[in-house]
This record gives sequence, C-alpha cells and structure tokens, in this order.
Amino acid sequence: MEEKLRFYKDEGNYIKCYLCRHNCSLSEGKFGVCKLRTVKNNIPIVINYGELTSANVDPIEKKPLYHFKPGKDILSVGTFGCNMSCSFCQNHEISQSKPPTEFIDIDKLISLIINIPNNAGIAFTYNEPFMWYEYIFDVAKKIKEYDKNISIVLVSNGFVNKEPLEQILPYIDAMNIDLKGFTKKYYNKICGASIEPVLETIKIASKHTHVEITTLMVNNENDSVEEIVAIAEFLANIDKNIPLHLSRYFPKYKMKNPPTLVENIMRAKEEAQKYLNYVYVGNVAGVDNNTYCPNCGYNLITRDIYSINPNIRGDKCPNCKEYINIIF
Ligand code: SF4
Repeated sequence: MEEKLRFYKDEGNYIKCYLCRHNCSLSEGKFGVCKLRTVKNNIPIVINYGELTSANVDPIEKKPLYHFKPGKDILSVGTFGCNMSCSFCQNHEISQSKPPTEFIDIDKLISLIINIPNNAGIAFTYNEPFMWYEYIFDVAKKIKEYDKNISIVLVSNGFVNKEPLEQILPYIDAMNIDLKGFTKKYYNKICGASIEPVLETIKIASKHTHVEITTLMVNNENDSVEEIVAIAEFLANIDKNIPLHLSRYFPKYKMKNPPTLVENIMRAKEEAQKYLNYVYVGNVAGVDNNTYCPNCGYNLITRDIYSINPNIRGDKCPNCKEYINIIF
C-alpha cells in the first residue's frame, strides 16, 4: 500500500527525502536508492506500507539479542527493500527485489502479537526496518498505546538520519544494530553506504534503548583482529556493557570469498573481550556462548544455540551483586 512520506522537503523542482543519509532527490516516477520512495501525482510516497514478505515466531536469541528478554520468542516480520546493497546479503531476495507481499493492518498485527504464547512482542527484521519507517512508526505508537509491555525491537543497519531516529526511539525497547566493519572503504565498496551515520545511530540509540551490535566477519574483507579491536574500542567508549556478536560469514549472494576461518573469529573474540564485557560468536557450532559475570566470572546464562538456562533473574549477579546489563 502507498503512504505519504514523513521526512521530505519540497525543493521546488524536486523532493528531497531525508529519511536516510542518501538524502535522495525524488521526482515524478523517479525512485530513491531504496527503490521504495518516489513521487506520484505530485505526492511523495512510499510503496511498502503494511506490506509483509516474511513473518515467523523466532527465539529472541536469533535476532541476535542475548541480553533482552532471554528465553522469550518474538514475532518477527519484514517487508522488502533496503538502503544498502551488501554483496553478502543473507536476505537479498527481499532486500534487493520485490517479492509477493501480503497487507496486514495494524489491529491484525496486534492481535497476532497478543495471541502468541511466550511472546516478547514484535521484531522488525529480515530487511532494513527503517525502510519501512512510515508503517513501523504507526505500529509502534499504536502498540504502546495498547500495552506498554509489548516490546518493540528493530534489527537494523543503522543507516538513518538523526531526526527520524530520535522520533521513533521513544517507542523502541531494543535494537540489534549491524556494525558491518570499521572502515569507510568497506562500507563504500561492500555495502553501498557510509559508516558515519551508523556510528552516530549507535551512539544515539544506546542512550535511549537496549542495544546489541552484530559484526559479520567476512573472510579477507573485515576479519582482521585490528578491525575488530577498533570496533570493540569504539563500543567500549560508549559503554563496555554493550554486547558484541561476531558472526561467521558463509558465501552468499554476490560475495564468493570462502567462509571465515573459525580461528580468526576466536582470536578476534579474545581480543575484543579485553575492551567489552560481553562478546559472543554466531554461526559457529560448539563455542561457549554463555554469559558470565564480568566481575566474578559466575555463569549467569548457559546457552546452547537458542536454548537457554538462566541463573539470574534481575540485573544483579546472584554471586557478587555486580550490575549486569540484562533486561528480563
Ligand atoms: S529512504 Fe534513503 S534511500 Fe530511500 S529515498 Fe529516502 S534517502 Fe533515498
């Protein structure tokens, strides 16, 4: 369904969309980089309002969020389109093209959420949620009016402008933000975007909501220990309690590099742990992904892929009373 844009300026002979840092110039029939926003009959519109391509009930650990409502499930939905063009995209069928969709109005979505047992709320994921901004904003506002305890999660690339981000954050309970690498070159060459807005999003979002970070370590591209340490240092300067997920890359879409070496990931984890209290590894079988108290080493949560066994119920270590960044 079509809906009017929320973040644009009429510049006379064109419309400037300023939802994300591409700041595209739109005109009649001409789309922006995301291929979702254009001008139709002189009205700036987005074409994916309420249109779902994917809906699943996932363990919240799969987002990945390890420190937010552990053990809960979450209704996970996505639409199509993206403002990046990562050559390794795991979801390129929906991010880079327009598959069939189903329209779901907000009341139906809320009724789905409340009828799922053990459900934390809703996660906007699979494709870039900020590309669905107009719908997500309306959904989030209505959900919070209905019941503040329904959690709203964004799994995002963080490439969004400050004003739209700040307007939606009051409704968001948790975010997993991709920090895809730590060089301008990587963001330009592999992702078709720039790193600065992503760093700014992480800084702003982590002041307002629960944030975890994911870095996909791609063989021979961003998997040096130095790059991961730079990421860990950047995050530690914000808050050393921000969980970092280092995820193993496998060949996908246009990226043909072989899978990332597990030893590189484990070495990067070891080094990142010198800066951050919680570093986890994704897409590698048999690794220790438990959560330990950063003060006394007590095992707070035992994890086996997505199944968990918590020894903590609040935000204090039961052994030494250290503050732990976990929300139940
Ligand atoms: S959302 Fe971003 S990519 Fe899409 S039209 Fe607006 S500025 Fe361009």
